[in-house]
Amino acid sequence: PTDTTTDIFEARESQVRSYSRQWPAVFDTAQGSWITDENGRRYLDFFAGAGALNYGHNNPVLKQALVDYIMRDGITHGLDMSTVAKREFLESFTTRILEPRGLDYKVQFPGPTGTNTVEAALKLARKVTGRSSVINFTNAFHGMTLGALSVTGNSMKRAGAGIPLVHATPMPFDNYFGGATDDFQWMERVLDDSGSGINRPAAVIVETVQGEGGVNVARAEWLRGLADLLKRRDILLIVDDVQMGVGRTGPFFSFEDAGIVPDIVTLSKSIGGYGMPMALTLMRPELDVWGPGEHNGTFRGNSPAFVTSKAALDHYWADGAFEASILAKGERIQDAFIDLSARFEGLSTRGRGMVQGLVFEDAEKASKVTALAYDKGLLAETSGPSDEVVKLLPPLTITEEDLDHGLGILADATATVCS
Ligand code: PMP
Repeated sequence: PTDTTTDIFEARESQVRSYSRQWPAVFDTAQGSWITDENGRRYLDFFAGAGALNYGHNNPVLKQALVDYIMRDGITHGLDMSTVAKREFLESFTTRILEPRGLDYKVQFPGPTGTNTVEAALKLARKVTGRSSVINFTNAFHGMTLGALSVTGNSMKRAGAGIPLVHATPMPFDNYFGGATDDFQWMERVLDDSGSGINRPAAVIVETVQGEGGVNVARAEWLRGLADLLKRRDILLIVDDVQMGVGRTGPFFSFEDAGIVPDIVTLSKSIGGYGMPMALTLMRPELDVWGPGEHNGTFRGNSPAFVTSKAALDHYWADGAFEASILAKGERIQDAFIDLSARFEGLSTRGRGMVQGLVFEDAEKASKVTALAYDKGLLAETSGPSDEVVKLLPPLTITEEDLDHGLGILADATATVCS
């Protein structure tokens, strides 16, 4: 691509365009794991809409469902009305996802995006408990609106608010100190100690794997310990599954294999499946204290996204085959990263399922690797507080051949930067 293709954006768009600067092309069409720019150059997409495209671009199964719906003049904007699209989505979500997992949640449509479901979760927890403060974790990311930003760790993101945010108390995430700790003893102590100055919180909000925070993986036993501690104190557990849900770590919900049942779950990004905005807030039935109209919004229910979401649930989540394929491909990525970490100094790796991070001691090298990968036709982003982690989020539907192709590009780029 020539520089001139992006000139209009340089001149007209605001400063907040980090992906455009990183990837100076004008993209046009996309299919599966591939995205094409206006000059016909193809890129393998290991970014996948920051986790919003778990089923790939223009997935044919979802596309057909959407085309059929539009061709029969299905309602595109249904607001709070009962619609066939909403009912059919709820039926599939209940029978394919909740019931087989023994989960009993009420479903709230909180607004179009991830930050909306986080806001709904925080608002609900505060109303249910009558307590205002919330505990969050170091390196957490929960969104950009005021409440969600208050429980986000990253100081650069927080700076966007200008002045101090709503009250939240950060605690260290699993392995924050990079080794064995006494896990929850100190947390119990500060929660129970009348001298700690910590207000009894309404809830704790946690990601099972911190995506934006640098692919930090919470151990299953840590999550269980956390859930236990909270239950004993009547503090609500909110799992933010906006990025790690919908199969990213293998199971549909990222908390399933830890054997915990959160009080509130947030879902967005890939729940609609076709890259269209959709979000859900799941709550234990007894937490449903909202009266009619106490949480509404014009774009709360996205009917075309209900249609694609249902198609994805029916096609991919009717049995365990999809989860097995995600875990197998995750291992393939992990193996490639373990190999790279063994070959080059200053590299390590961490992740779960199909979210894997290659961690660079020298953060600058991570950005060099993603820049080189772009030149070689691969889109991948960095994450972590210093952008020191190359984070892979390929579509879960990617073929093994494409996956290996992309991993080959990354290995070459890493070799160039680290040799
Ligand atoms: N929670 C998590 C865990 C996320 O990763 C994100 C987005 N990266 C959000 C919330 C916010 O979602 P959105 O950008 O759709 O508002």
